[in-house]
Amino acid sequence: MTDAINTILKKSSLSVTPGRSAILQLFHQSDGALTHAVIEEKTGDQFDRVTIYRTLQVFVEKGLIHTIPSPDNSILYALCKEDCSEGHHHDNHIHFICDKCNTTYCLDHITTPYIALPNGFKTNQTDVLIKGLCAQCNL
Ligand SMILES: [Zn+2]
Ligand SMILES: [Zn+2]
Ligand SMILES: [Zn+2]
Repeated sequence: MTDAINTILKKSSLSVTPGRSAILQLFHQSDGALTHAVIEEKTGDQFDRVTIYRTLQVFVEKGLIHTIPSPDNSILYALCKEDCSEGHHHDNHIHFICDKCNTTYCLDHITTPYIALPNGFKTNQTDVLIKGLCAQCNL
């Protein structure tokens, strides 16, 4: 697992540091999106807040993870799929938050709908967040 993670870091021309390895590994082991607070909790006191914050920023810049707005204004981060690269994100998919287990999912196969804007307006990004029950909680 660690080898695979380090390969991803190298492919993004990032040097391998314990913080980057550990945080990227967390994303690969997690089903849904992660917040800064959750990452901090899961890595224990191995890394300070600033290290985690900077690592997340670098990952976003390199196209490894994308941000998801959340209803309580904490930023969620989720892994990008293969077609994102440095400075170019293509995460135009819908996000889903489960009301019961609080997991945020990337629904990668459902693209955000086209929304017709008034004349003169231009879309840069469309965020669609659906709330409800995930497949596991809806049994
Ligand atoms: Zn992306
Ligand atoms: Zn759920
Ligand atoms: Zn996503």
